[in-house]
Amino acid sequence: MPDHDTGLYGVWGHPIKHSFSPLIHNPAFSKFGINAIYTAFDIHPDELEQAVRGARSLGLAGWNLTVPHKQAILPLLDEISDTANRIGAVNTVVNDNGRLVGDNTDADGFLSPLLARTQFQPTAAECLLIGAGGAARAVAFALADAGAGRITIANRTAETAQDLVAELRSETSLPSATACTLEAVAGTRYPSVQLVVQCTSLGLSGHLPPCPDWESLPRDAVITDLVYGPQPTPFLQAASAHGLATHDGIWMLLGQASQAFYIWTGHHFDLDEASGWIADAIKQRQQ
Ligand code: NDP
Repeated sequence: MPDHDTGLYGVWGHPIKHSFSPLIHNPAFSKFGINAIYTAFDIHPDELEQAVRGARSLGLAGWNLTVPHKQAILPLLDEISDTANRIGAVNTVVNDNGRLVGDNTDADGFLSPLLARTQFQPTAAECLLIGAGGAARAVAFALADAGAGRITIANRTAETAQDLVAELRSETSLPSATACTLEAVAGTRYPSVQLVVQCTSLGLSGHLPPCPDWESLPRDAVITDLVYGPQPTPFLQAASAHGLATHDGIWMLLGQASQAFYIWTGHHFDLDEASGWIADAIKQRQQ
């Protein structure tokens, strides 16, 4: 039962109804006997500055950020971690006695479960990223730092992909990075790409992003989509239909959530157990 001492956490986004984050953090607080609750806040981009002022006044203990706030929040905080600065995006804020500190758990949250749950080997690997927003930035830096050999970044807005490529070239030891348009991916052959990561928000609305020529990919390539939902996304369904291994975006959600929870509480939860919390909550909603 919440009381005077209950810590208030949440996820800020717009839209936010699709978020599974409350289904993870509330059971995690219960598991560790922590007096806190986690909810979802729909915050319009025009209201972000006001929301930060409100959070300071109300003493929110911490929060996550999702589309479209991860980059816009940077100048509104008191301190930004080195990781978040490098990625240029914040997905986790901790209120440290009134000082708002921004961090980013997306990079590790993406990579750790991918390495634990698939056969993908990052060393010298060729990777294709579709999208160049905040999440794609975290993925690109994670792969570059893990020793990838080549990253191609395709994006609707070509300049954003080119800027990210320039940063990867100057800030990492990635041997090769190139940018292209989204259209350039559609039906293109990628015979040496080991990992395809769908990082646009297109899949959120059920749209199928441009797909490579699936048959041209190595048979041991791994395909992942950062968009997640109760069912595999259209992108993952298309890859599966061509016999390719897929890795659901839910694992990145769980990975980044686990890191954020650790920042807030000093506790780690198990990702398999947490995926069960989500499945249970969905089942309950359907009853
Ligand atoms: P951003 O808003 O920072 O970036 C959005 C990306 O999607 C950009 O590349 C943008 O291209 C592209 N895009 C948006 N609309 C369209 C469109 N109509 N046609 C083509 N491209 C489009 O968002 P994030 O990077 O933070 O998030 C991207 C997706 O990843 C979201 O769906 C989010 O839910 C998901 N995500 C999942 C996580 C997980 O834990 N599984 C973690 C983080 C994100 P442009 O630059 O041209 O605008």
